[in-house]
Amino acid sequence: MTSNPDSPASREIVGPQDAATVPRYSGLSSFARLPRLADVTVCDVAVLGVPFDSGTSYRPGARFGPAHVREASRLLRPYNDELDVAPFATQQVADAGDVPCSPFDIALAIGQIEAQARGLTDGGARVVALGGDHTVALPLLRAAHSRWGPVALVHFDAHLDTWDALYGAKYVHGTPFRRAHEEGLFLEDRSTHVGVRSSVYGPQDFSDDAKLGFAAVRCTDLDREGMPAVVEALVARIGPGTPLYVSIDIDVLDPAHAPGTGTPETGGLTARELLALLRGLAGLNLVGADIVEVAPAYDHAQMTAIAASGVAYELISLMARTAPAERPVTVPDRLDLTIPAARPNDVTA
Ligand code: MN
Ligand code: MN
Repeated sequence: MTSNPDSPASREIVGPQDAATVPRYSGLSSFARLPRLADVTVCDVAVLGVPFDSGTSYRPGARFGPAHVREASRLLRPYNDELDVAPFATQQVADAGDVPCSPFDIALAIGQIEAQARGLTDGGARVVALGGDHTVALPLLRAAHSRWGPVALVHFDAHLDTWDALYGAKYVHGTPFRRAHEEGLFLEDRSTHVGVRSSVYGPQDFSDDAKLGFAAVRCTDLDREGMPAVVEALVARIGPGTPLYVSIDIDVLDPAHAPGTGTPETGGLTARELLALLRGLAGLNLVGADIVEVAPAYDHAQMTAIAASGVAYELISLMARTAPAERPVTVPDRLDLTIPAARPNDVTA
């Protein structure tokens, strides 16, 4: 660690632990065996664990997701052949640890997540978050918005997650994108749900969602139109240079590919289809992302975690493919872990 963060030497990038020296299965877990945030002086991309699942409506357990995904990420290697990029060599990627968030108080936890994410984004780092249930996307989007303004949002999920409330609760995992719309966090005309397929309560679920500006790519649209046409439309809708945020609920994958999740739905994407859709976003200005709803208690043979870690690797690779002029080269301040005052729109009861 150099003392002057502005010196050229401080841009020397610290990569993953060398697997030729230390076997991949040994040592403490960090994402992809990357250095921890405390061990680097600059950070372009921060992997942030968000072990929160108190917004879950069906099977709980996503609070254990970050540790599970890190453990499954040990086999990620330095070069991504499909995207022709070495994601840990051209940008400093570091593991920023987990947000210490309350399991009892959702409003408090949302504030804690936003504060920690903003500590990273304010310094210019792009956050790739590992959830946690989908509630965590709201504070993460707030942090991205505070740094980059309204984003194009691409939301991969079996579900719309734009209900107004569940059991009267407004800040839970089925509502984050309704709240994000109310707060103006994303660009209505540039945002899309991908992989939608769940049964719903009626046609109004879709018509209500469309009023928020979202386009929706259902799994059956992929069957009808094919991957190239879907990618082309998605990319055109986002537009070049637009700050892009990608939120991935792992239940967008079929339960055959990702059984370890809280609200599984049949008829989903294969892991290969999801990777292909993500690679189609290469060259766009990806500023932040999350992968949520990995619940290890329902996982088998690390299938879900391996899929999630591979997806995180692809997202970090996409960030490396962003034009250098669009990438921040700044030093993150020390993380401010103080809890912010309640926001006017926080849940109070
Ligand atoms: Mn879902
Ligand atoms: Mn979701």
